[in-house]
Amino acid sequence: MDTDSQHAREISGATALTAIFGDPVEHSMSPAMHNAAYAALGLDRRYVAFHVTPQHLAAALRAIAALGILGVNLTVPHKERAARIISEQSAEARILGAINCVINRRGILVGDNTDARGLERDLRSRKLDLSGRLVLVIGAGGAAAAAVLCAIRMRAATIAISNRTVSRAALLARRFAPMLRRRSRIEAHGLDALENAAILADAACVINATPMGLTTRRFAPLDYAATPRECLFYDLLYAAEPTAFLKPALGRARPAADGAGMLVGQGELAFELLNGKAPPPGVMEHALRARLGR
Ligand code: NAP
Repeated sequence: MDTDSQHAREISGATALTAIFGDPVEHSMSPAMHNAAYAALGLDRRYVAFHVTPQHLAAALRAIAALGILGVNLTVPHKERAARIISEQSAEARILGAINCVINRRGILVGDNTDARGLERDLRSRKLDLSGRLVLVIGAGGAAAAAVLCAIRMRAATIAISNRTVSRAALLARRFAPMLRRRSRIEAHGLDALENAAILADAACVINATPMGLTTRRFAPLDYAATPRECLFYDLLYAAEPTAFLKPALGRARPAADGAGMLVGQGELAFELLNGKAPPPGVMEHALRARLGR
């Protein structure tokens, strides 16, 4: 074993830490992904998961500087709350009102958000061209906001938001309306949009940004047949098996992808922010696929 790979395996007084804060956090795939990249690069660093409850978030964030942690990822339920605590933020974190990556710059915490860019990276790797097309985003929470920002960056002409609570869809549409390009538009709908042939007939991509299918057994009624044959069905959820949203799409031989690619994309971008260097291509994806058993 050479010195570098030995360093990557042994924890010493010089080992530097990165981490994820979540509640719950035990299920997180991020430690496997980031540690695989450290091992591949021979870096004397470790990525660990801390179970941080909302009441302890502010103290846990202060501990980053106190302990000299290089930085952390934030997952549910901390992303929005952290945006109200950390004053230094990237433009993207401010637009999304949420932070998923905190970088320790010599004791100053800087918040960023890699969710929209992670999704964009995965959609582009699938050769999806959204320019001038319609994207249907299901949901109106933080993940839906990242999907809307991604659709704007990919120059979609129409973004239709479909949510159980229409008023939340309208709120999200109003937030992003000032960012639209000329001749683009953003619309708010209820879940009935998922059976609206006029909307579905134009869709280049339908993105599920809700936990439907995970927290509920069924997905809301959706007229898959009304979409064009090349329409990509993209679920932000990921699992070993196809999700309830993706199964009917796969049954109709439609392009379909789950959120594993977005998780890898946001993770690779976060790794670079936290460590100042990119992970070797494919290493984080391979670690995630091994964890998901596929
Ligand atoms: P959130 O803020 O809690 O938003 C949840 C959304 O789902 C809301 O729009 C909510 O509608 C809707 N919803 C919840 N239960 C529903 C149900 N039974 N029927 C219909 N709609 C329902 O959550 P989030 O942070 O945006 O995350 C959403 C999903 O994206 C999560 O499953 C998360 O794991 C996933 N995600 C994946 C990645 C990735 O890297 N792949 C990254 C971020 C998030 P109402 O407004 O009506 O309540």
